[in-house]
Amino acid sequence: MHTDTGPRSFRLADLTWPEIAELPASAPVAIIPLGACEQHGPALAQRTDTTRAEVVADLVAQRMRPRVVVTPAIPVGVSEHHMDFPGTLTLTPDTLRRVVHELVLSLYRHGWRKIFVLTGHGGNNATVEVALTGLRAELTDLYIGWSGITPVVADLAKELAHSELRGHSGEVETSQAMFVDPDLVLADRLSRGSAALDDLGAAGRLSRSHPGIHFPVQYRTLSANGTLGDARQASKQAGDRLVSTAVERIAGFLTGLVELPEPARETP
Ligand SMILES: [Zn+2]
Repeated sequence: MHTDTGPRSFRLADLTWPEIAELPASAPVAIIPLGACEQHGPALAQRTDTTRAEVVADLVAQRMRPRVVVTPAIPVGVSEHHMDFPGTLTLTPDTLRRVVHELVLSLYRHGWRKIFVLTGHGGNNATVEVALTGLRAELTDLYIGWSGITPVVADLAKELAHSELRGHSGEVETSQAMFVDPDLVLADRLSRGSAALDDLGAAGRLSRSHPGIHFPVQYRTLSANGTLGDARQASKQAGDRLVSTAVERIAGFLTGLVELPEPARETP
């Protein structure tokens, strides 16, 4: 064990059990990265959300070393809305809920009481929220939180985006991909997707023009090439700002979480 700097790695899967035995005391926060394997337009790899979640989790753990551990990322999420495109893999919400539930239970049984789920894929949000609602009821001495990546830097995303419509595999996400792993991006295939409300059909326009109202539609309805926004406007510099700011803000929250006394278990 490297006692000054903590264990050899902040990745749980890289360590041996004797190195992990005392880890919940020195590294009280565990991050579970969630991703997806789904179409990301003509220029981004299907693993984009998984890699973004992994890299952001790693950068947070590096910044907070040795107080955070990172579990392996879950590489498939809830992507039903992308199934019209070749290659997308999806879990049902109930399967992902159970996976999150069982991973959190595993960490809990080994002593972790402060857990953070970091999803790179917005399609997982509702499922994560349901999973955490169940866990909070079951494990009353557990602190558990979650976030996406782009929503944590929504203000910056708004500033850096160029399109009226921005979202999946558009300039904001492509910029992040360029920064976290250039191998995710086929630079010569970057293209404009549905970047304005006028690019959408009737159902897509209805879905995107009433803030606060949820009306999910298949991605094919929103965009012929699977992109919302204009990926040609992406840059590695914008990705650096988005990712570095997200890391700083998530680490800020987790630092507060480290400092919180563990909650006492309620006896029924
Ligand atoms: Zn994505």
